[in-house]
Amino acid sequence: MKLITIIVPCLNEEESIPIFYKEIHKVISDSEQDFPDASFEILFIDDGSKDGTLKEIKNLRDKDNRVRYISFSRNFGKESAIYAGFENARGDYVVCMDVDMQDPPKLLKDMYRAVTVENYDSCATRRVTRKGEPPIRSFFARQFYKIMRKISDTEVMDGARDYRMMKREMADSILSMHEYSRFTKGIYGWVGYKTKWLEFENVERAAGETKWSFWGLFRYAIEGVLAFSTVPLELILWIGVIMSGLSFIALIVSCIFYSFWGFLPLIVSLIVFIGAMQTAFLGVISIYLAKTYLETKKRPIYIYKEKSE
Ligand code: UDP
Ligand code: MG
Repeated sequence: MKLITIIVPCLNEEESIPIFYKEIHKVISDSEQDFPDASFEILFIDDGSKDGTLKEIKNLRDKDNRVRYISFSRNFGKESAIYAGFENARGDYVVCMDVDMQDPPKLLKDMYRAVTVENYDSCATRRVTRKGEPPIRSFFARQFYKIMRKISDTEVMDGARDYRMMKREMADSILSMHEYSRFTKGIYGWVGYKTKWLEFENVERAAGETKWSFWGLFRYAIEGVLAFSTVPLELILWIGVIMSGLSFIALIVSCIFYSFWGFLPLIVSLIVFIGAMQTAFLGVISIYLAKTYLETKKRPIYIYKEKSE
């Protein structure tokens, strides 16, 4: 008998949890032919919710002992919740899933087939449409994946979800990455392994609302770039080199034309320009420095105050 752990991060999801449970229950309960020789555990991570999320989870736990939970001392973010899930999962196979029904449960059986019969190490999912999402958000998301593909060695698929089933080995590899700034989609790609991709059309949230503001997503995207690419640092070097070249040319030009213009306009604009560039460069360096600072502190990725067992 194989155990499948479903990790479900939740932040203020009291409305979604009963819907999620009902749907997932349907899928896993008459599972004999879809999931031969498999049983399930559902591991909810309450990521510091302020509503009745924990109460809902405990209700489920009371009637179904396949339900387990961990409740954080505060909101640590979805990435930390996923890490906690991996750390506490007992399954031979581990799946990560949103509670808002945007990750279709009907894909679970295809995922299971991929990692058992078809012998993939993991089975990942991506949305091929973004129907129902604000167009501005879709636009920036697309740009993010495009840039990420160009500047990072780690593959991050456009529309990739965190929704993925994997074998124990891969879950352990993910756990071995202790970094504090976690970008799960990048981490999945970085650890490698043979992965099958399933595609699906975007599904809108069943209840509640998204936890991501535009600004929050923007910062998450920057996080992704910083965690999996040093290109911004290299860019500084190249801009510096080009700038030196340009200012050298400017110097020569101003030498030639100085009897018409005088030095002043040129020099002033040069100084201002270079000053501005330096500030920008320092900005990039300090972002990396800040990240390094946080990593060297070796803070725990999450703190829990309560667990189901
Ligand atoms: N989530 C979480 N901690 C957070 C933010 C979100 O555990 O700080 C959970 C949330 O409850 C949901 C999943 O992560 O199960 C995805 O969040 P959401 O649906 O808000 O993101 P979106 O689908 O809009 O990208
Ligand atoms: Mg969602």
